[in-house]
Amino acid sequence: MKRLILATGNAHKAEEFARMFTLAGLPCEVASARSVGGMPNVEEIAGTFSGNARLKANALKLLAPKDTWVLADDSGLSCDALGGAPGVDSAIYAGPQATDAENRAKLLSALNGVPPARRTARFTCHLVLLGPHLEDAEFTGHCEGSILEAERGSGGFGYDNLFVPTGYTQTFGELPATTKDELSHRAKAFAALATWLRLD
Ligand code: IMP
Repeated sequence: MKRLILATGNAHKAEEFARMFTLAGLPCEVASARSVGGMPNVEEIAGTFSGNARLKANALKLLAPKDTWVLADDSGLSCDALGGAPGVDSAIYAGPQATDAENRAKLLSALNGVPPARRTARFTCHLVLLGPHLEDAEFTGHCEGSILEAERGSGGFGYDNLFVPTGYTQTFGELPATTKDELSHRAKAFAALATWLRLD
């Protein structure tokens, strides 16, 4: 049984990962960063999802017991009409202390006047897994969709109630969590991770 610590202070993400680990039935005992004193403050300055995920993984690895695995993620939303913004700055789009609601308001104003056909976007999730014996693996997942002109739904977090995944008419804020768990960028990256863990 692997003991694995999630390198995130975001309760929503930790919840989604915990659900995915349970459903996948992997031989892993998953704990949050709280179990080692909390996620250290990491300046996410790498400029890429992959680089930022690695910064978080390395920071938590320093605190984690030697025999544990560390899983870090970096994720965000990239809008085609905005040249990929907010991208790696998704969490701080409207400022360093911005709330999810403020970030969504800024996104709606940046996309003001952009017609529906050009409001295409994707979520990206990049995972970095570090093991006790220098194991080091990375996984990426994307979820394509588009951004509405107004919020719809009260579920999820971040940009969920503005994002309609391709092939659906409801936002991630309206769709059941179980549907998001099948379609999302995090679910796709997780599926690749699960395959790796099963082969390990
Ligand atoms: P991170 O914690 O630096 O990876 O920032 C991730 C940010 O991207 C979050 O704060 C959200 O704004 C956004 N984000 C990532 N994944 C999701 C998702 O599944 N739904 C909605 N927003 C997300």
